[in-house]
Formats: sequence, structure tokens, C-alpha cells
Amino acid sequence: MSVKVLVPVSGGKDSQAALKMAMQHHAPEDVRGLFCDTQFEHPLTYAHVEKLRALYGPVRIDTVTGGSVMEKSIKYGRFPGGGARHCTDELKIRETRIYCKALAEEQGGFEVWYGMRTQESPERGKRYAGKLDDALYHPHEVMTKYPKYLGKMGVRFRLAICSWSESDVLEYLDGQENPLYAAGFPRVGCFPCQASGDVWKEKAYAFDEFGAAQKAKVMIVSKQIGKSMWNSKGGKVRNESPGCELCAH
Ligand code: SF4
Repeated sequence: MSVKVLVPVSGGKDSQAALKMAMQHHAPEDVRGLFCDTQFEHPLTYAHVEKLRALYGPVRIDTVTGGSVMEKSIKYGRFPGGGARHCTDELKIRETRIYCKALAEEQGGFEVWYGMRTQESPERGKRYAGKLDDALYHPHEVMTKYPKYLGKMGVRFRLAICSWSESDVLEYLDGQENPLYAAGFPRVGCFPCQASGDVWKEKAYAFDEFGAAQKAKVMIVSKQIGKSMWNSKGGKVRNESPGCELCAH
């Protein structure tokens, strides 16, 4: 028995839609999920990935990890931000590449269904411009960080919901998405994504006990590497300025 479709799942809604679609078009044993654990996700996200194993299946979802976002931040002496995302490179792309290579060696080629959408951001709109939902591409044609040898081994990428809007995705998932969306987080990934805006980080850190514990971890790393945990001037002013003792009370 061989895997026909591999779906990288993050716990977010777009990759869930790709998984649901794969399960509707293929027998459960032909589909496999791959969760690249950044060791920085919210417990609700881990629980959601667990739920996905049964929701459309059962489907096998393998978990791999190349370390944690905080370890990478220490290794590179900076937090991820802007175009420089050591965490995406080393915890997601690298781990997926290793997994795909091993699976292709074991059984031959297969498809990888990614849940990226052009409407997600202007940057993604540019990157996936002209790509079709049902076309198959060599991995490096979709993401240049993937090596050409994967294509030669028979691995093909499909952007299964590339043209979908956010409401298309939510309608398709029919209320079964990660509960963090309903809690007011429009993006689900690390909690919080260290490359995201400071307002989102503040919201995550104040959300619950887990958020507060994440903030404490990031503060320790921030001191260790001598870099601010905030990306913006506003974030630094709101969180780092000592402020007036009188006004603060
Ligand atoms: S969600 Fe953010 S912090 Fe996490 S791996 Fe992706 S870019 Fe890095």
C-alpha cells in the first residue's frame, strides 16, 4: 500500500481544507497527513490535530519535529521576522523535505496537497499567481526552497485550494475548524507567531495561562540573545517603556 497524497497539516483551516478534500477524493489509506511540530503551538492546536486524525478518516497523521522556535532563535541570535524566518526554513520546509525524500525512496512518487491560498496575503498572491488548484507542479516550482531532486523522484505539489477565499474555506469546514479562530485569532500557527505583528502577540500573551507562559519563555530568550521580543516601535513603547508609576496605578 502506498501513499498517494501527503497533506502537510498545521492545525490551521487551510491545510484542514486540503486534508478534507484529499479524504473526499481518495481512500483513507491512500492519504497521509504530516504535522511539523514547532513545539510552540497552543494546546488547542495540538488537540485539533489529534481531532483531525478521526474527523475525516481515520487518517494517519505523522508528527515530525526539527526542534523548537525558541531553540532556533537562540541558534541564530534573533527572533524570526520579515523575510528571515529560520523557523519556517528549519522546522517546516526542511522537515517536509526530509520526510518527502524518505517516503519517495520507500515507495516512489506521490502528491503533496498544500493549503496555500493566493488571497491569504499580497505576498502569497504574487508568489502563487497563475497557479491552478488542480494542476501538479514540481516542488521547486511552487517553493524555490525545495530541491529539484524531489521532482525527479516523482514528488508533485498541488495547491488544492489556491483560488479559494477565506469564506469558501470556512463554509467547507462547516464549523469544524480550530477553536482559536472563534477566539479571535485569524491565523493559527505558533502561539503566537514570532514573525507576526506585536498586537497579535500581545493578544496571545494575554489570552490565557498558556499565553502568559509563552511570554515568559520568550522573555528569557530575549534576554539571552539580547534582542527585543517586539518587532515594532509601538510594541516596544507599550511593553518596554518603564512608564510613569503614578499613571500605571
Ligand atoms: S508560525 Fe511564525 S514563528 Fe511559527 S514557524 Fe511559522 S513563521 Fe515561525
